[in-house]
Amino acid sequence: MAFLSYKSFINLIYPLKCQICNTALDYNTIDSICLDCRHDIEINLPPFCNKCGRPLQTGKYSCKNKHQNLSQIDRAWIVCSYQGVIRTLIHRLKYNNKLAVLNFIANLCCNFAEKFIALSEIDCITYVPLTRQKKMQRDFNQSELIARKIAKRFKMKILDNVLLKTKPTRPQVEVTGHERLSNLTGSFKVRKDNLVKDKNILIIDDVLTTGSTLNECAGCLKQAGACSVFALALAGGN
Ligand SMILES: [Zn+2]
Ligand SMILES: [Zn+2]
Repeated sequence: MAFLSYKSFINLIYPLKCQICNTALDYNTIDSICLDCRHDIEINLPPFCNKCGRPLQTGKYSCKNKHQNLSQIDRAWIVCSYQGVIRTLIHRLKYNNKLAVLNFIANLCCNFAEKFIALSEIDCITYVPLTRQKKMQRDFNQSELIARKIAKRFKMKILDNVLLKTKPTRPQVEVTGHERLSNLTGSFKVRKDNLVKDKNILIIDDVLTTGSTLNECAGCLKQAGACSVFALALAGGN
């Protein structure tokens, strides 16, 4: 029998498959996504709206949106549009606990941040929290895991368990009218104001839809004395 490395032997028994389309992967593939599926992901490129981060067609500074849900955020960035492969990946990460996908997603965020965000102007990084109960149910918080990867790669300080979610809420897209305003009110709080005071903070979320969750978090951080709050979301609507 010809010599087989341990890795290729394992691959023979348990073939690696693309997390999206199930195509068999070469055992040397670092991430569990095939090339075709990778090419399907549209990473946002500048020019970006200097408020909400959506890519702009022309060289203007901001898009047509009124940004009323981003009043507490100094500036947001969105890595890619929430569709196709990315949508599937986020869904799998959230509901099927596929941590294999996390490295891939976190790398997209790291590469984007490295290119487009002046990280040297940011003092620390944090993430949109889940309630304790939800985190126990799900076993992890994908925004937290992305934040950890970014912090590690760029040697940034992470604010861990500083921003807390104290009340469960319904997704903003599911509620309407005045319920929308009351749904998030008072659902987040900052635990140690001194860690936040006078800091420029980057907060991570997985999907930016209405922006109101990030805005509520940013408002809490600012009330606790944060100097500025920037936001980075993995995906968002265009
Ligand atoms: Zn694939
Ligand atoms: Zn905008």
